[in-house]
Amino acid sequence: MNGSVEMSHLIGGRGGVIVVGSVTVDVTTFSRRLPLRGETILGDDVTLVLGGKGANQAVAAARAGAPCALIGCVGSDAFQSLVLDGLRAEGIVLDHVRVMPGATGVAQIRVDASGENDIVIVPKANALLDLDHVSEAIHDLAPTSSVMLTQLEVPLPTAIHAIRRARAAGLIVILDPAPAATLPDEIWASIDIVTPNETEASNITGFTVSDPESAAQAARWFLDRGTQTVIITLAAAGAVLTTADGSRTFEALRVEAIDTTAAGDAFAGYLGAALAAGDSLETSIIRAVAAGAIAVTRRGASSSLPLRAAVDALVNRPAAPAHSSPGPPAASWSPTLGFQFRPDSTESTTP
Ligand code: ADP
Repeated sequence: MNGSVEMSHLIGGRGGVIVVGSVTVDVTTFSRRLPLRGETILGDDVTLVLGGKGANQAVAAARAGAPCALIGCVGSDAFQSLVLDGLRAEGIVLDHVRVMPGATGVAQIRVDASGENDIVIVPKANALLDLDHVSEAIHDLAPTSSVMLTQLEVPLPTAIHAIRRARAAGLIVILDPAPAATLPDEIWASIDIVTPNETEASNITGFTVSDPESAAQAARWFLDRGTQTVIITLAAAGAVLTTADGSRTFEALRVEAIDTTAAGDAFAGYLGAALAAGDSLETSIIRAVAAGAIAVTRRGASSSLPLRAAVDALVNRPAAPAHSSPGPPAASWSPTLGFQFRPDSTESTTP
């Protein structure tokens, strides 16, 4: 297979990315280990930043260079300005982010020294994102957009409605089905690309996904229901693309993971932005894999999402000839080994 994808219903050249999704404040603690049940421990650090899968994927798409608009809800509380200022600073269009009476969504994240995390999300304002709001916003934004990206941190009927409206408007529809949920069978045919991680793919399909082979098997479940393109992300094992033509593994870059939060958001945002810019599916996945790798080398969620220059540098860096230097190349890519990347060779990408 050549990795290209036909998006025949797309009326080309519009360029923007619409994200329909959640906005939260992420309260993240960092500690050597996670507490046992009922235990209290002292941690090392804490951050309070913009988060939520919708906001993170919008930030990733905006940092990738896409014109990006967010459709979502925030609360009328003290967290409102923190999240809106954060989104505004990224240049994200906020015309369709509504302020609702009550609390902004919160995610409580705990990260241990190995980079593992666990998360409790309280949706609050995100639960108030309704169908009319989504219809109106997609109607306004579709003429200048190519891609609609959504996740499952908003009410299920809202996500399903967004998928249907975006498909009817001729957009490329990408669903990151996180957290995993049961969707009506008929919706899968309205989704162009689905991007579960291995846990979500396992939960949705009932196949245990643990490696590229089992990912390719689970992907059939989505294809059988009418989704054309399935990309199952496997963390440090990369991502597996499956279409009717077959499966192909995009290996991960080798990096030292510090905090795996938001790797999937970096991946989805970069995938959407690249497709909206007219890149091939293969190029878009290569950019998404690079964005995911950079994200895990940094702490936090939205703060770890890379700028376009860092992803460009990583993707475009030529492989060093084997005889040219005594040390390993800064970064290279081969079909069998994927990217080889030395984290200390990356440019700084802090905005
Ligand atoms: P999620 O955050 O949704 O669980 P994954 O952990 O699968 O998603 O990460 C998404 C992508 O980010 C992966 O497909 C991979 O390309 C990249 N990635 C994630 N973790 C690592 C890692 N430890 N090393 C290199 N790349 C990674």
